[in-house]
Amino acid sequence: MISVKQAIDICLNQISVSEPETVSILDAVGYVLAEDINSNIAMPPFDKSTMDGYALRAGDVVNTPAILEVVGVIPAGSFPKCEIHAGQTAKIMTGAPLPRGADAVQMVEKTEALENGKVRILEPVAPGKNISPKSEILRVDEKVLGRGTYISPAVVGVLAAVGKDRVQIYRRPWVAILVTGDELVEIDQKPRAGQIRNSNGYALYHQVRNCGALPKPLGIAPDQRDALRSKIADGLKCHVLLISGGVSMGDLDFVEEVFTQLGVTVFFDAVNIKPGKPTVFGRKGDTLVFGLPGNPVSASTIFEVLVKPALRKMMGFAQVQSLLLSAVATNDFDSKTRRENYAPSWTRIEENKIYTSVLPSKGSSDIVAFAKSNSFAVIPGERQQVHRGELVDVVLRDEFWMTNGSMGLSKKEGIFIARSVSDEAIS
Ligand code: AMP
Ligand code: MG
Repeated sequence: MISVKQAIDICLNQISVSEPETVSILDAVGYVLAEDINSNIAMPPFDKSTMDGYALRAGDVVNTPAILEVVGVIPAGSFPKCEIHAGQTAKIMTGAPLPRGADAVQMVEKTEALENGKVRILEPVAPGKNISPKSEILRVDEKVLGRGTYISPAVVGVLAAVGKDRVQIYRRPWVAILVTGDELVEIDQKPRAGQIRNSNGYALYHQVRNCGALPKPLGIAPDQRDALRSKIADGLKCHVLLISGGVSMGDLDFVEEVFTQLGVTVFFDAVNIKPGKPTVFGRKGDTLVFGLPGNPVSASTIFEVLVKPALRKMMGFAQVQSLLLSAVATNDFDSKTRRENYAPSWTRIEENKIYTSVLPSKGSSDIVAFAKSNSFAVIPGERQQVHRGELVDVVLRDEFWMTNGSMGLSKKEGIFIARSVSDEAIS
């Protein structure tokens, strides 16, 4: 059986970065730029005052207080008509262009307006002070952002400043989501004897969306070859097809058989991981296919470990895998498996140290325990026990950043640290 690392490598090897698509910058955050951006402006476009104050000649205020004649007022958005000669100044606002002749701005707090069109400058100011020279940040035609840049809100600010309202990003893949199982009913239905609600379809929908890809739910397929075949054929029209259930050894687990009938090349159908051993990965044409185990914790775990890096690679991310760190275990944990164990855990930062608590769980169908976790403690197959106080690897999920942030920050020894999580999340 292949290791988790081999499985990830096989998946990533099958993937190349998507073609670019053009989107509004309002939809671009969270994606990766697929073009270089050159500036069509200088920034700032003129010598600019960075303060509300008085534009003057520094040489006139070497000895203070000094009284100067106010020859103009320059609000931001106007262009100064006045020129500053010896003994003169102009009132100027933040962001306004510096008038000719001036070489510094004294901030308004260090001045006193007088009644007769004059101003008293209370302190000297060095030449160049409180001025941002033309092109100091960016020259015309300079490359400002490179292909491969992660688009953050700040990057969108830069795009807006240089007049780009639409940009090329690496295409967001459409991800079809098919859940299989005769026992499944939709959430608005009351499960009858032997039935359960489809939860995977919804959890996977949001896992896909959180990665920035485009989910396309295909509904529930029964455990029946013909119905499965037509639904899977439908899903193969997307860039990626995710199927939950029907990939284990049960009499009605037909997914892999239907893959073969439809010409899907299967690269592996088992991974040495817990949970999620019966995982299928294949490809037909340009479509990647993942058969995830039906147990909800397994499906979500395999999504995080295998599918997410694949989607991120398609979308041009340089860093495709989740952050792996070393944490101090807060409890004893028996890893009762020889497989690489991804145990749902709660990770927190306290006093600059990272701690993780493996959560009590009834196994791979325990979505309630899983929903309390924000990370995986990753225990290698050869390690059977983790003792409190020992180091253990953790993979942080998006939930980590959200939950640690929402706990509020406290300042200690000049460093902001996350406050400890309440213990009820652990128990
Ligand atoms: P399977 O992989 O099809 O053998 O399913 C394994 C377990 O996961 C069974 O207990 C199924 O009832 C459950 N399961 C399968 N699909 C879903 C789903 N979409 N939502 C919730 N549970 C599911
Ligand atoms: Mg099933």
